[in-house]
Amino acid sequence: MADERFERTFVAIKPDAVNRGLVGDIISRFEKRGFKIIGMKLLHPTLEHAQKHYAEHVGKPFYNNLINFITEGPIVAMVLEGVNVIDISRKMMGTTDPQQAAPGTIRFDYAQIKECNVVHGSDSVESAEREIAIYFKPEELFDAKENDEDYFIRKYGHVEE
Ligand code: UDP
Ligand code: MG
Repeated sequence: MADERFERTFVAIKPDAVNRGLVGDIISRFEKRGFKIIGMKLLHPTLEHAQKHYAEHVGKPFYNNLINFITEGPIVAMVLEGVNVIDISRKMMGTTDPQQAAPGTIRFDYAQIKECNVVHGSDSVESAEREIAIYFKPEELFDAKENDEDYFIRKYGHVEE
């Protein structure tokens, strides 16, 4: 119980998934879980976006390929809000390598290789705050508090704000 709290995370639907027409299916999974979309845009990431986003991977063997891939075409950038959304949304995505991902996860269901694994999700509160700031201005985010499902969770749940 003590670990339940409302969080925000940064999710990106990567260029491969946008190109393949998977945007609606992927967004729909998060909405059905009850997560609220509090920010969303289609954008073509610049080199600066990509380098900031993946700064932790500089120097790794896959880094250049990753930067080329993420700047290849538009992504759908989203900020989701919900109870433990950081951990749960990554569970919904599955492991980095779709070959290892559990059946039913997004990466298992829609992807074949780790280089083109259709989605990104922040891995911690700190990463989420950092990544949200790369792609969104504060005024581009909207408050989900008035939405119906949050209303009931907030009213009857024991969830930290
Ligand atoms: N990646 C890759 N080769 C690797 C590891 C990662 O191409 O050996 C890509 C992959 O698309 C992954 C991204 O780099 O989603 C970021 O890697 P990370 O380890 O942060 O995985 P994630 O958090 O996305 O699961
Ligand atoms: Mg990561």
